Amino acid sequence: MNSFRYWSLVLLSLIGLNGNSQNQEKDILTTFHTISSHDLLNDAAELTSARYGGRLSGSPGYQAAAEWVANQLKIAGVKPGLSDGTYLQYFPNAYSDVLSTGSVILLEGGNNMRKEYQFPKDYFPGSNSASGNVSGEVVYVGFGISAPELDYDDYKNIDVKGKILLMETGLPFSGKDSLQQWEPYSYHRYKFQQAKNMGAAGLLYVGKIANPNTSYIEGFVYAHIGEAIVEDLFNGTDRKYAEIHNDIKKNVQPNSFALNKKVEISASTKHFPDSRSCNVIGIIEGSDSVLKSEAIILGAHLDAVGSPGCLFPGALDNASGSVDILAAAKALVASAVKPARTIIFVFFGGEECGLFGSTKLVESPVWLKEKVLCMINLDMVGNGTGFQLGNGKSFPEILKHFTDANEKYIHRDLSASESRVNYGRPRTDGAIFEKAGYKTLGLGTSGTVKPVYYHHPLDNTDALTPEIMEDAAKLLYLGILKLANDQTITTK
Ligand SMILES: [Zn+2]
Repeated sequence: MNSFRYWSLVLLSLIGLNGNSQNQEKDILTTFHTISSHDLLNDAAELTSARYGGRLSGSPGYQAAAEWVANQLKIAGVKPGLSDGTYLQYFPNAYSDVLSTGSVILLEGGNNMRKEYQFPKDYFPGSNSASGNVSGEVVYVGFGISAPELDYDDYKNIDVKGKILLMETGLPFSGKDSLQQWEPYSYHRYKFQQAKNMGAAGLLYVGKIANPNTSYIEGFVYAHIGEAIVEDLFNGTDRKYAEIHNDIKKNVQPNSFALNKKVEISASTKHFPDSRSCNVIGIIEGSDSVLKSEAIILGAHLDAVGSPGCLFPGALDNASGSVDILAAAKALVASAVKPARTIIFVFFGGEECGLFGSTKLVESPVWLKEKVLCMINLDMVGNGTGFQLGNGKSFPEILKHFTDANEKYIHRDLSASESRVNYGRPRTDGAIFEKAGYKTLGLGTSGTVKPVYYHHPLDNTDALTPEIMEDAAKLLYLGILKLANDQTITTK
């Protein structure tokens, strides 16, 4: 922008403190008050219904949910975000259907006789498990990592051929300095492949959450297990699970051993290696002939973890964020006061499978990166009493529009954090944008009021607090509108 235009705009915005601006504020509030928790809850009920099967990215259920969102955008008057006039940006996305709850059975060992475990109380079937039935002796292999260059090997001096492994997620290392070196070993896909390469027959993965961010490996059967099974497996070994686990982490020293138990795991799945999924992208073109070349991206992942054994509705994670931005999009397009800059709404697919959708959009952007003012990501914004703007403190010129809106009209706790370098594995769509060099903020909630059922069948609409969803959409509407119309900032 040339300096004449800049100063005339500043002047105009100063002169704007008259009746005209009061009318504008009135118009903005009229739209603001149309955002209602009732509509948000209805939209969340739609997305979490059985018809979408838990929105597993790559599945027909996810595709139907994506089409529902695209249709909502169309009805509202939000234009298609792709240059070919469509809303859906496709990418490859293999997935597996879990056809039954499968089983995990302790066959013998310790003080326990044969014991059949229960779904969903004790275990969840593996989201990408192979179909079949495996049994064998159980070997605890810590974090399942062979990293010779880091002088760390959970498989050293232990025979796991034909055995069932008991394995931890994550890393035996939590420092920051050399976390980057450990990053490749933090992926579930790495751990599964390594287990298979070592000749393991199957896997009991510690932590009872459904997780499609894994790979399907022919003949490799696994399940996610909770504490009760882990305790049974350690029973009679004269070792305490918690101590072993903590010592490995504290000393960064492997400690693998046979548990003298025999277990059987069975799974029934169907794998679709050649499937695809999509992001849903809508756009509101800016109203100012110059500023419209700059865009603000608002994103939330639409996908969830599907139906591994039963419906996992994915209400908080992340129907909540999706319906929050859908409501903000509807308000921004209906608003009498138009955003001067362009707003892009993205409902990501493939987040739960490994951030596929955000990676696709960063690689095939729909807007020139240099002309993107910022990206704001919403994940799990539907349970709490306040707001948290991740990275907000690092971008005060962006943050101020949200704190202003909150202080004036919403009156919730709003805290902001400083951005810091992420040395580990990216865990959100926002992190993918941040890594690619976008100014990225994350909107989340604070003051959780209901139990959080993460990747669990009980993550349904009862787990939501509709009032905070209404306020999140209102905060987005006001904050984004003011940010889009702020003449004092530029993308440069
Ligand atoms: Zn999420």
